[in-house]
Amino acid sequence: DVQPGTPPITPNTQHELPPATAPGERMNATFVTLARNSDIWEISRSIRQVEDRFNRKFNYDWVFLNDDDFNDEFIKVTTSLVSGKTKYGKIPKEHWSFPEFIDQDRAARVREEMKEKKIIYGDSISYRHMCRYESGFFFRHPLMLDYEWYWRVEPSIELFCDINYDTFKFMADNKKKYSFVLSLYEYVETIPTLWDAVKNFTAAHPEHIVKDNSMAFLSDDDGKNYNHCHFWSNFEIGNLNWLRSPAYIDYFTSLDHAGGFFYERWGDAPVHSIAAALMLRKDEIHFFNDIAYYHVPFTHCPTGESTRLNLKCHCNPKDNFDWNGYSCTNRYFDINGMTKPEGYEKEQ
Ligand code: GDP
Ligand code: MN
Repeated sequence: DVQPGTPPITPNTQHELPPATAPGERMNATFVTLARNSDIWEISRSIRQVEDRFNRKFNYDWVFLNDDDFNDEFIKVTTSLVSGKTKYGKIPKEHWSFPEFIDQDRAARVREEMKEKKIIYGDSISYRHMCRYESGFFFRHPLMLDYEWYWRVEPSIELFCDINYDTFKFMADNKKKYSFVLSLYEYVETIPTLWDAVKNFTAAHPEHIVKDNSMAFLSDDDGKNYNHCHFWSNFEIGNLNWLRSPAYIDYFTSLDHAGGFFYERWGDAPVHSIAAALMLRKDEIHFFNDIAYYHVPFTHCPTGESTRLNLKCHCNPKDNFDWNGYSCTNRYFDINGMTKPEGYEKEQ
């Protein structure tokens, strides 16, 4: 007899449930999240979506990094949500503090000025440590040394479409090293001298600049000026060995000594993007049209109705930022000689 209040069990004949675990080999890969204990519910929302749309089929690990100790609640909740192994790391103090070559009074004056100018995060010390950490250190954390591939996930993101294949394997099979879903122009006030620092680096280390690079994504005058285009780094799937390579480490070290993480407010997005554009071949950077993504305030919803229907997407195509004038994705397609997806004109 059915108990009162118990819903009747009706066999679901309409849909095949996906297998709990996709067949095949796994890559040496992990999700990685930098977070505070207070981010617990926002990161839980992100994890739930990543699991539902992708990771429940693949069970990849998840590394959490924090400048403080994670508390029991954070560990308990996130471990319950992730289908793979979870690991929790504390960031060493040297990677989250002012280097000795930084003049702290000068840095403090800059924060005051930026506060008056109302530049976003302009007066924040912790945001600057975060940007510097994501630019130069997360891939060197002891917990990350075990892995070759990473997928960065931030709090309060959304995924709107099913991902039915192994994106890490895709990267490896197609010799990709870096990837993005959204691109845009950086606020110039946060990076006034970043390009000068990049030019000093490329002059000192021409050996690190590859021939078939994406300079045309970054510059409209062959490198004289930066156009502020960058890949949005709150989503990244990338290769950790590239970030750990002498080329990238020389690049980061050179920028770090230029001081702009503290004397300005350099973001890890332009820092990673410029590195990818100059030190990777064009064909090593991938645009994931099929990964539908939101991080406030922008959405990438795949162009092309058949893609959206096949992947059971729930994003509104009108929210897609790709073909908006403030996106750099149009330029990315042009410099790579790629055909824009069908229907893109209607979204401009
Ligand atoms: P936004 O996306 O640029 O507005 O910056 P977020 O506030 O999302 O921060 C970027 C990432 O760094 C997120 O994953 C945050 O959880 C993390 N984060 C930011 N500040 C701190 C901090 O002071 N400590 C730690 N542990 N994580 C931080
Ligand atoms: Mn964020």
